[in-house]
Amino acid sequence: MRALLSIDYTNDFVATDGALTTGADGQLIESELVAITQAFIENGDFVVFAIDCHDLEDVYHPENNLFPPHNLVGTDGRTLYGSLAALYDAHKESRTVHWIDKRHYSAFSVTDLDIRLRERGITEIHLTGVCTDICILHTAVDAYNLGYKIVIHEKAVASFDPIGHEWALRHFAGSLGAEIIN
Ligand code: ZN
Repeated sequence: MRALLSIDYTNDFVATDGALTTGADGQLIESELVAITQAFIENGDFVVFAIDCHDLEDVYHPENNLFPPHNLVGTDGRTLYGSLAALYDAHKESRTVHWIDKRHYSAFSVTDLDIRLRERGITEIHLTGVCTDICILHTAVDAYNLGYKIVIHEKAVASFDPIGHEWALRHFAGSLGAEIIN
């Protein structure tokens, strides 16, 4: 059984005026990312939107010293970018579409994602979204350590750091045994 993890494809990470945007690189993957997400939803696969959720009151968060405020709860920056928003809205009541607020880079960190996947007999996770070398990377490393097979959709991941993007793709294949679909 397989699942799709859709990571952080929100206005703050993708829109031109987003707080921590991947800019054009992130915007270029929109149609491919949405097409993949739609195909998984229509196939009845488990689709998880694992989305950064921060709070300005959270003064102990380590990202406070690393990045400008982003994906703040209750702001438009946390809204899914472009046509992914409408796709999610159309299917969010589906039993196979699930939303997880995450506080760290990895979708597995301090969330119930692992048990949600295991309950469904899922052994293979497909990754899309941003950023390739931060949240996708940390999620993939945790998935590897938990024993999941990993599939990366190369045309549906992006970063604001082209060198980091390329390095992460090599790491997924060479060190995590991931299948790279391009
Ligand atoms: Zn964050």
